[in-house]
Amino acid sequence: MVHSAASSENIGVPSSTPPEPRKKTISNPYIHRLQRRHFLLFDVLPIIGTAVAVGLLWVIPVPTSAWVSLGVMWLLTGLGITVGYHRLFTHRTFKAAPGAVVALAIAGSMAGQGPVISWVALHRRHHECSDRDGDPHSPNLSGDGFRGALRGLVHSHFLWMRRHEYPNVMHYAPDLLKNRALLRISRHYHLWVVLGLVIPAAIVGVMEWSLTGVLMGFLWGGLVRIFVLEHIVWAINSFLHMYGTRPYESRENSRNGGVFALVTLGEAWHNNHHAFPDSASFGLNWYRVDPGYWLIVVLSACGLATDVGVPSPQRRAAKRIRTTPAGADAGDVRGGD
Ligand SMILES: [Zn+2]
Ligand SMILES: [Zn+2]
Repeated sequence: MVHSAASSENIGVPSSTPPEPRKKTISNPYIHRLQRRHFLLFDVLPIIGTAVAVGLLWVIPVPTSAWVSLGVMWLLTGLGITVGYHRLFTHRTFKAAPGAVVALAIAGSMAGQGPVISWVALHRRHHECSDRDGDPHSPNLSGDGFRGALRGLVHSHFLWMRRHEYPNVMHYAPDLLKNRALLRISRHYHLWVVLGLVIPAAIVGVMEWSLTGVLMGFLWGGLVRIFVLEHIVWAINSFLHMYGTRPYESRENSRNGGVFALVTLGEAWHNNHHAFPDSASFGLNWYRVDPGYWLIVVLSACGLATDVGVPSPQRRAAKRIRTTPAGADAGDVRGGD
């Protein structure tokens, strides 16, 4: 990993000179080359794969097993991202048994959204700088008017990944760097992505007992699944920092998009999440759909998760945005969500 240059440059400098602080982000041609390669392989290639899969719909009928592989792999890798990458590794909203840590990290890695430690560092920086200078993917910093909004949406949804300042993992994820299992999983990221393509190809190939089955599993359970999940996750970064409801006070422009709660596995309660980033539950109420939290509840019931964080009613009430409709008395106030 890249370190601050402070130590070597300080030779001969009087000891009273404070050391140069560790850089929070790193930007150099090597890092940008890696980012461009990742963008082409894991972000552009799934788009091409999806176009091929859709084009083949008119030529080869898609077997049921391929549709099932799409659904199962989407659920597996989607839970890896929201429960593993996001709620456990980034925000430490609960503690997990070592077996669950490894399973969630591998499932998340298969999504093709980056090695777990880089993902965590990027997301912690997003929370630190949300919708301000330094946010890797804000839709709100690209100018005013319709053109500014459109530019912001395209940037935050997709194009920011081509080239961006890389958050220093020594600064943003020192806790994860101490975990040898996570470090090893993070280093073998490419292996997990390939495994996520090989598994559906092999299973559908065996079930259909044909090479066409292998191709269908690779396309639908592999590339199309990566494409679908990526755009779901990216829509949180883009649309849910612009449009939706805002029941809680938070210092950025995060929003809730309840209609997308199921398909995002609970991530669509994004304003709730920014208001209470230490909460394992994003829905916050039992009646709000939050499959990611449901998995944490199941893990907890099985003894695989402990210290599950949920904000108290008092904390929630203190952050609630209150609107007083005309003519209503003070007891009839509510925020919209
Ligand atoms: Zn977060
Ligand atoms: Zn956000």
